Amino acid sequence: MRQRVIGVLTLVFSMLPCLNAAWAKTPWQAVTQPVAGAPQAIGSFSNGCVIGAQPLPLQTPDYQVMRVDQRRYFGHPDLLAFIQRLSAEVRRITSGHVLVGDMGMPAGGRFSSGHASHQSGLDVDIWLQLPRQRWSEQQLLKPQPIDLVSASGLNVNPRVWRPEITTLIKTAASDSDVTRIFVNPAIKKQLCLEAGHDRDWLRKVRPWFAHRAHMHVRLRCPADSLECQEQDEPPIGDGCGAELTSWFQPKPSGRKSPEKTTPPPLPPSCQALLDRHFAEK
Ligand SMILES: [Zn+2]
Repeated sequence: MRQRVIGVLTLVFSMLPCLNAAWAKTPWQAVTQPVAGAPQAIGSFSNGCVIGAQPLPLQTPDYQVMRVDQRRYFGHPDLLAFIQRLSAEVRRITSGHVLVGDMGMPAGGRFSSGHASHQSGLDVDIWLQLPRQRWSEQQLLKPQPIDLVSASGLNVNPRVWRPEITTLIKTAASDSDVTRIFVNPAIKKQLCLEAGHDRDWLRKVRPWFAHRAHMHVRLRCPADSLECQEQDEPPIGDGCGAELTSWFQPKPSGRKSPEKTTPPPLPPSCQALLDRHFAEK
């Protein structure tokens, strides 16, 4: 009995970090409209904001936007243009509709939960399914993800994997505005198998935790966003060798997942933007 009580308590306490993350509001959620001005992505993907963001148009033939009630469909105009370019091309090739998940909030900044990045208006989650039939409003509000990775985590699940998913990821990775795409290591492994001779695009596709049902696409800093911090380029090569294999090896004992730390100070322009917003209230 005592064992069981301790077990339950351990479970509850182990869940606390997620609960805290879900409860903690961030000041950026209070900014409900884009900040007027010439479009500027500021800071880094995981500590930044955006001026002059625009809402992604919701009524279009090539893509559909999920969970619009969350109002996370704002981004730098470069991001909107990329989504439109990608979905037109993918629809032309596959007849499927691109499903758009989280972009950013109206002024960017930190979400209360779910993401550390998506802060500077240059990141978007795109789901790895391409329905031929457009989804209903209800389906879009409560979308059903398809887990593409097998239970072992070593491979994609052949029952749900479709070759057009490779087309979708390859089309996105071949876009010159895209710098990185994050997918589960098992998905990267499948792309490595299917790529054939044309492999340059694989360099941008990076293995990462989770991402079993969606890809996270990140754009380069727009040339005129002078306060935008670019990430280093991914390592040279297709990334299908030792780096990918290391994801499938057991963690050395004693190595722990990175601890949650308090967020770093905001870039001064983002702090100024928040200060102005709350002074006007
Ligand atoms: Zn994401």
